[in-house]
Amino acid sequence: MTTSTGPSGLLVDGRWRAGIDPLEVVDKYSGDVAGVVARASPADAQDAIAGAYRATAQPLEPDERARVLLGVADGLEDRTDRIVADYVAETGFTVAEARNELRRAVAIYRLSAQEATRLAGEQVPLGATPGGAHRLAFTTREPVGVVVAISPFNAPLSTVAHKIGPGIAAGNAVVLKPAEATPLSACHAVEAFLEAGLPPGYLQLLCAPGELVGPALLGDDRVRFYTFTGSTAVGRRISAGAGLARTHLELGSNSVSIVADDARIDEVGRVVATAGFRKAGQVCTSVQRILVDRRRFDDLTSVLAEEVAGLRAGDPRGPDTDLGPLISSVEADRAAGWVAEAGARHRVGGERLGGGLMAPTLLADPDAESRVLTDEIFAPVVSVVPVGDLDEAIDIVNAGRYGLQAGVFTQDLDRAFHAARSLRVGGVMINDTSSYHADAMPYGGVKDSGHGVEGPRYAVEDMTDPRIVVLNLRRPEREESL
Ligand code: NAD
Repeated sequence: MTTSTGPSGLLVDGRWRAGIDPLEVVDKYSGDVAGVVARASPADAQDAIAGAYRATAQPLEPDERARVLLGVADGLEDRTDRIVADYVAETGFTVAEARNELRRAVAIYRLSAQEATRLAGEQVPLGATPGGAHRLAFTTREPVGVVVAISPFNAPLSTVAHKIGPGIAAGNAVVLKPAEATPLSACHAVEAFLEAGLPPGYLQLLCAPGELVGPALLGDDRVRFYTFTGSTAVGRRISAGAGLARTHLELGSNSVSIVADDARIDEVGRVVATAGFRKAGQVCTSVQRILVDRRRFDDLTSVLAEEVAGLRAGDPRGPDTDLGPLISSVEADRAAGWVAEAGARHRVGGERLGGGLMAPTLLADPDAESRVLTDEIFAPVVSVVPVGDLDEAIDIVNAGRYGLQAGVFTQDLDRAFHAARSLRVGGVMINDTSSYHADAMPYGGVKDSGHGVEGPRYAVEDMTDPRIVVLNLRRPEREESL
């Protein structure tokens, strides 16, 4: 991880390799080199798949999987300070965000351990089916085999945990390819697996740009499952290259929160100030659009303007900083460009600050066709749009290309249920924003936001195959009584 100590970042078959050349990991605030990992080659990727495939010949028993996963959770907690330091450097997210995501990752590994011990099939009642007489049938859940996990830069501990945790809990071998901008957190997780005694080959780590090793990871029949979190554009490539392997695709969004006329506006303002700006808005469920009943538009924009003006962008290590820089100055320039062309009626912030920093931004009533509304901005920018009523808001959400999560603020149970049933998204949060997420819940999107749900219970199920076992039972001959 750091230049002086730690593993190389390229783990194949239980051994750290030197890699083709060093991959420098930059501190997103200072621009300094925060660490160096070994860059994997396409040949390393092929070796990693071969090693994972071989490993699965020695099945890992459920109690062993659970023991390892609990050890990983403890190991991550033990190295909190080192992880937080590397995480803040490589992401540019604040110390509080680092601690929060580490807490979540630890919980995800513990939840995955529980799922390893619960994994079971079910009895299938064949008796009622023609040809089913005298049969006892049940399913078992078998590991799919090799899982390839590809993760994004913006949640380098928790998205990795949502992939390796269930992957191992289900009994699979996992090849992990974290985002090249933020591989240090993944290195910590992999180290924790080795220390917890995971047999060699069950977890392989490749740090490299996706375009470099992606083709070697795709289209390999030994891989039975691709679990991918990232942009919709790359998700399409994964889908095209996955062949007959199953996929989980957790993709982009321009998430909406709907505010009805009976909502508690102060409460909405408070939660949006966090949910729209944490990680500088680089969260897939971040509050990007607020569709508010026209009668409450002025109230909401003035409450939000005050909240947003009070947020501080700056050094992610500073105790008073609310948001750090974006992942790169190129991304900050792009987002500021979208804000400049949005044609909003009123605006707070929007300026570029130094490096990758951007002022927290609120846009009131931008043009309906502007990119701040139609595309995923992935920056600290929240837009407020007035609508006639709840049905108009639902129509706007359903007409869009994405469908990850939506929030609905209302005190009216009928409206809440109507919205929950009508919105074409993966999750509807009532009196919370689109960004609410508890790691035990099924989490995933529809339409261009992808398919398949994460959450250890659901992912473990998907990462196994059901095997049906049918016993044809005959009545034994009666023994003659003596
Ligand atoms: P990205 O798509 O650029 O990269 C994601 C991963 O894919 C990285 O590891 C990258 O190296 C890899 N990759 C890139 N090209 C590849 C290729 N040709 N073959 C194989 N792998 C390749 O995404 P990002 O910028 O790291 O992350 C931001 C995106 O992730 C946003 O769109 C965000 O909405 C999305 N995201 C979605 C969720 C969700 O749960 N739906 C969660 C977090 C992030």
